[in-house]
Amino acid sequence: MVKDQTERPCAWDEEVHVFPPEWAQCALIAPSTSNGCAMASAYCYVPRRKGYANPISIFVNIDEACQAIRRHAVRQRTLPAPDQIDAKHWVYDIGENGDLSVDAVICDNVKDLVETFRNLPNAKGSFATKFVNPSLLAYDPQAKTRIRFSLMPDKIAKVVDVRTSPVADRIAAVDAFVRAGYEVHVNFSPVIVYEGWEEDWRRLFEHLDDVLSPKAKDQLRAKIIFLTHNKQLHEVNMQWHPKAEEYLWTPETQQVKRSEGGMWNLRYKVAWKQRWLARFQELLAEKLPYCAVRYAF
Ligand code: SF4
Repeated sequence: MVKDQTERPCAWDEEVHVFPPEWAQCALIAPSTSNGCAMASAYCYVPRRKGYANPISIFVNIDEACQAIRRHAVRQRTLPAPDQIDAKHWVYDIGENGDLSVDAVICDNVKDLVETFRNLPNAKGSFATKFVNPSLLAYDPQAKTRIRFSLMPDKIAKVVDVRTSPVADRIAAVDAFVRAGYEVHVNFSPVIVYEGWEEDWRRLFEHLDDVLSPKAKDQLRAKIIFLTHNKQLHEVNMQWHPKAEEYLWTPETQQVKRSEGGMWNLRYKVAWKQRWLARFQELLAEKLPYCAVRYAF
């Protein structure tokens, strides 16, 4: 089981527990059961690890992976206190290298993972997704798997979220997944800044408020993650999808940082980002006051 702070897929939004001070904030990352993705979000780092072609590889040692999770969870015993991730359970990110809703179209690994967490008293699985797969509704998670639907305004999703489910479909699916026994959260990620971004997010929040049932609203939590882009990915995108780069590549508002893996990453300049993040949180609090923010970066 890995403790890791590096970027993660589906908008690099891994779960982060508050550990003892010497561990600072570390992620509980379960062994991967696949890598690659059939979708092609223009900002996603997963393809970088597969030479920018990104076929899904399904791992056949699912029994070993589930057993490793069980052994690790038993060693953790009870979560000592509620933290920013969960009130009661250790949360394991199980979708670090792709989108498990898509994996579930072609194999039973996700079903096996949901069953593993259903039977672990102190642990919960969690993954982010941009794809609505109704077959997951039959998995009977009994509130021990968290699905995090990643959302952004439809206008920009149509450009950068290539081959994903439409944002309106992801929102429309929330209630069904709650009824089916999932905990359903949302990731507002990546937040991409462009002319008119605030108005588009305001409309997205209003849409969520209109559509979600009281039960879904009660359990709703969010993460907010502003865009991280990457120089090498930018160069690849310019060859096949330059339109996306009009939104993603804005060096005048971004600063460059060398990653531990030797990549050049771009994030919004700190002063700008602080201002934009504060504005985003104000809007969210105004429109969805019941939606607590678990993490904002
Ligand atoms: S759906 Fe997630 S894993 Fe797949 S390409 Fe998009 S961000 Fe990457």
